[in-house]
Amino acid sequence: MSGITMTTTTDPDADGDAAVRRGQAARGYLRWRSRHLLDRHGLTDWAVIFLWPRKNDPDRTTFGRCDWAHRLIYLNGAHLMAVGPDYSSPHSPGVDEIVLHEVAHALVGPDVEDHGVEWRQVAEAIGGGMDRDE
Ligand SMILES: [Zn+2]
Repeated sequence: MSGITMTTTTDPDADGDAAVRRGQAARGYLRWRSRHLLDRHGLTDWAVIFLWPRKNDPDRTTFGRCDWAHRLIYLNGAHLMAVGPDYSSPHSPGVDEIVLHEVAHALVGPDVEDHGVEWRQVAEAIGGGMDRDE
């Protein structure tokens, strides 16, 4: 069967399902967007891992982390969901900035000063010019 269906907002199951679908779509967007940004800057052999820290986890205020030895970028999925990725607006600056911040770390390598001159030049060139995280 096809056609337009309506759900009432008083049906708690329907609301719950919609919320789950929105969450899945937002997570899917985060995975797609971060992969896209890594690939665009040549990090095709790097992987992205999302962390979902709980409320009292000390890691919860960390936006992201770069692991050069294993070519991994860790991103705080919970935080990225909170900063805004309205998955229906695929250019949410919050998400891009955070991912590109870590991409800049990956590109300059481990031997330069964190958020120093070299990092900043790369970060600004690729559009990730902010240093809010560690
Ligand atoms: Zn940083």
